[in-house]
Amino acid sequence: MIRFVSTRDRKGPSCTVSEAMLKGLAPDGGLYVPETMPSLPASFSISGGVADAMYQAIKPFFEGDELENDLEEICHSAFNFPVPFKDLGEGRVLLELIYGPTSAFKDFGARFLAFSMEKLLMRRGEEKTILVATSGDTGGAVAAAFWRRNNLKAKVLFPKGRVAERQRAQLTTWGDNIESYEVDGSFDDCQKMVKEAFMDKSITEGLSSSNSINIGRLLPQMAYYAYASQLYLDMYGKKPVIIVPSGNVGNVTGCFWAKAMGSPIERIVMATNANRTIPDYLESGEYQPRASVKTLANAMDVGAPSNMERLFDMFPTFEDFSQAVSARSVSDSEIQRTIKEVYDEDNYIICPHTACGERVRRDYFQSCPTIVVSTAHPAKFDTIVEPLIGRTVPIPKNLWEIIQKESYAKEIGKDYKELF
Ligand SMILES: *Cc1c(COP(=O)(O)O)cnc(C)c1O
Repeated sequence: MIRFVSTRDRKGPSCTVSEAMLKGLAPDGGLYVPETMPSLPASFSISGGVADAMYQAIKPFFEGDELENDLEEICHSAFNFPVPFKDLGEGRVLLELIYGPTSAFKDFGARFLAFSMEKLLMRRGEEKTILVATSGDTGGAVAAAFWRRNNLKAKVLFPKGRVAERQRAQLTTWGDNIESYEVDGSFDDCQKMVKEAFMDKSITEGLSSSNSINIGRLLPQMAYYAYASQLYLDMYGKKPVIIVPSGNVGNVTGCFWAKAMGSPIERIVMATNANRTIPDYLESGEYQPRASVKTLANAMDVGAPSNMERLFDMFPTFEDFSQAVSARSVSDSEIQRTIKEVYDEDNYIICPHTACGERVRRDYFQSCPTIVVSTAHPAKFDTIVEPLIGRTVPIPKNLWEIIQKESYAKEIGKDYKELF
């Protein structure tokens, strides 16, 4: 049975994966990691499809856990949408993680966590309220995933006037057990209110978080790389270099875990936007987190990536880190140029985040077998993409249905007590 420990104290108290999912953060403020990284099962096979392959990859982490016998059903319920390759020719593949309910890769982790928590809470006869502050993408994926899950409620906070129209729809059209709060303030104010609520002893007991450091969001992000790298090897006969558009580095951490478990991955490359914390670290050897800058790939506007603690846990010295990790930064003008170039040359439309990955492939890995991760559907970023390509982006059915529904949000000030 695999126990989970904190990145800040590997010798400290340990817990099961289910406990780690319910807690979110370790009590000492660190992030949960497995005591020892398991290998993929010797029988690992992708012939049963993506949900089954992801189940096999996640299974070793649940050996002996209270959810062990539910895991297969959870995976099949959570990962019930396609995960196709888009081949641009000559082994240049895009891994499209964009066909979930909110058209972005965060659907995988949010859905796995929601289905797992529902099972755990129903069995324990407990209820929890998820609090989430969002500047855009995360809140939508969490709201969609927790909608109508038993024993769970979600309160979604977002800054008034600062989210795009289509993003706002994904935060406010759910109803039932999802409550949306439009805060008269900034994203930082929203985050502060969530922190204050968690510190209030009279309410903290019934609260839970679903943010990207939760182990339940990370494991699916490992599992789709186990699937995709094997599929690539089967199709093209070579191990791929995988290029991951990165901000908080949760998605790419999943990729490093898949490689550590034995997946056929040649090398892992982060593509960042103008937030250069990690590329600068690789150049200078000094890690300097900083305030974020605004870019066109706004879901990657992170200056102090929270999952770095897990990567430092894997690669403790600068030498280890710089041998295993590559990172390249892409500017806003390069993002625009790449969206246009891919449309003109390949007749394919990508989002601004995916464009960072595609630029890095075109500039540095042109002649290698490569997978670039497509992190969101371009229709979510219509106001950026459409003027560049001179046409409208067709909206996927999921997204269209959400946008059509009636929107409701409660307007509140900056006092967290207004949430309860
Ligand atoms: C969250 C997000 C990212 C960044 O992923 P991290 O795990 O934070 O590195 C990239 N693209 C999109 C569309 C996202 O929503």
